[in-house]
Amino acid sequence: MASAPHTPASARTSTELQSVLWFDPAKILIDGQWRPCASGHVLPVENPSTGQVMGQIARGDAADIDAAIDAARHAFEGPWGRTPAAERGRILMEMSKLVQQRAEALAMIEALDVGKPLHQSLNDARALARYLEFYAGAADKLMGTTIPYQHGFTVYTLREPHGVAGIIIPWNYPMQILGRGVAAALAAGNTCVVKPAEDASVSTLAVAAIAQEAGLPAGVLNVVTGLGAEAGAALSEHPGLDHLSFTGSVATGQRIQAAAGRNVVPVTLELGGKSPHIVFDDCDLDDAMPTLVGACMQNAGQTCSAASRVLVQRGLYDEVKHRMADMYRGLVAGPAIDGHDLGPLISARQKALVGRYIEWGKAELNLAAEGSIRPDASPDGHFVRATLFSEVPPDHRLAQEEIFGPVQVLIPFEDEADALRIANGTVYGLIAGVWTRDGGRQMRMARQLNVGQVYLNNYGAGGGVELPFGGVGQSGHGREKGFEALYGFTRIKTVTARHG
Ligand code: NAP
Ligand code: MG
Repeated sequence: MASAPHTPASARTSTELQSVLWFDPAKILIDGQWRPCASGHVLPVENPSTGQVMGQIARGDAADIDAAIDAARHAFEGPWGRTPAAERGRILMEMSKLVQQRAEALAMIEALDVGKPLHQSLNDARALARYLEFYAGAADKLMGTTIPYQHGFTVYTLREPHGVAGIIIPWNYPMQILGRGVAAALAAGNTCVVKPAEDASVSTLAVAAIAQEAGLPAGVLNVVTGLGAEAGAALSEHPGLDHLSFTGSVATGQRIQAAAGRNVVPVTLELGGKSPHIVFDDCDLDDAMPTLVGACMQNAGQTCSAASRVLVQRGLYDEVKHRMADMYRGLVAGPAIDGHDLGPLISARQKALVGRYIEWGKAELNLAAEGSIRPDASPDGHFVRATLFSEVPPDHRLAQEEIFGPVQVLIPFEDEADALRIANGTVYGLIAGVWTRDGGRQMRMARQLNVGQVYLNNYGAGGGVELPFGGVGQSGHGREKGFEALYGFTRIKTVTARHG
């Protein structure tokens, strides 16, 4: 009922959050110690489904980042640097087991704090466990090479960790992005300082508590919560860092790269996208349909690799449009803990940003269909209807700019060349999906699409821990996930021995 009073709802969710926490989210972890941040200031933890404050996190700043980097340096030069790779792997495997055991609690934390429908947050917790498992197994399989050189020489390479790795995480997939960064960095022998997003820090603190339980030595994983402009900027600018990995927006990524440039440290940037699904006339449309919608509506469109553009060949265009519109009319947004198709967006700010795009679309484009918001959802929740626009000109801002909400655009195309021109016609290049039965076309498209990953007759928005992942153009550079991430978190030293 829409008339339910807000105060009891707030009390209910704050109690629910407290009931799944086994640590104090208002403390940060530095050198194995949970402590308030140096300033003693805090930030609210908001439930995006209700707009209510459920608790507090610490508002860490430069002083805490200094302490965290010192601790990480000390651990790297001390016990962690001497820990055999197999033992690093065992600790990561223990973390994976504990994450699996606590998967439901972690999923509930994420549903309450980030607004992810429970089935999606449970999937994120399981993906985190899988990252830890994958890199646990990989830790002792990273090797150097021997290189044939001149007579009387033996040359080999050592693959060494960088040292102290800074990891900055966005709010949209906190557990997965933490997993792919931290598990790979630790497996390779680095120590870490993590700055989670202000709006989504609680699950990162939970994983840090799990790491302690799993036996990770003090100082190896440090977490400082706080604002991007304070703790985040202090971390990215810190001269004590040896490597920086950032996932987030292009604008912040540009600042991060400039800061890394000043300190001359390597940086991995995973930025946004405007990824296309390309549907050819000869595809198996029944097979494609659920993915065409799901690959964007997952996480209410707040996915860097969301397939937010659907390019459809003329012969199938009307059918795809009608079938997608039907599906959209059935999509319901509602409170995350009730497991709707879409949860709320992360914040009032994000809702306002996405709302502007929808207004522009309604004024300038064809609205093909909208979903609904559950009538008794809190008016203070950040809910946005799933929205589909059709016959969108490829150069329209809704077809060019990342919206990061539940909005998809349909674009007709004529032939392969036209599809490629439109698909490659943005500043981004993260993912592309191609639906066709023609094997030759699959190969041609895979080669000519200007992106970091191509999916043929499927689409994995972020899926598959084994699969190297990253972008080209303004989607970023460097690769996370799979073995490529381990190469990114290590550097090569060449040893040339002259022995006659
Ligand atoms: P964002 O504003 O760039 O924030 C990302 C992270 O950077 C947060 O932890 C943020 O902290 C921090 N930050 C903000 N300002 C900073 C600064 N000046 N210096 C250092 N750190 C700073 O991005 P977002 O709005 O959270 O996330 C959405 C964007 O991320 C979208 O554009 C999306 O496409 C992209 N994304 C990309 C991927 C990928 O893998 N390619 C994955 C997820 C998201 P606060 O939140 O506390 O301000
Ligand atoms: Mg929150």
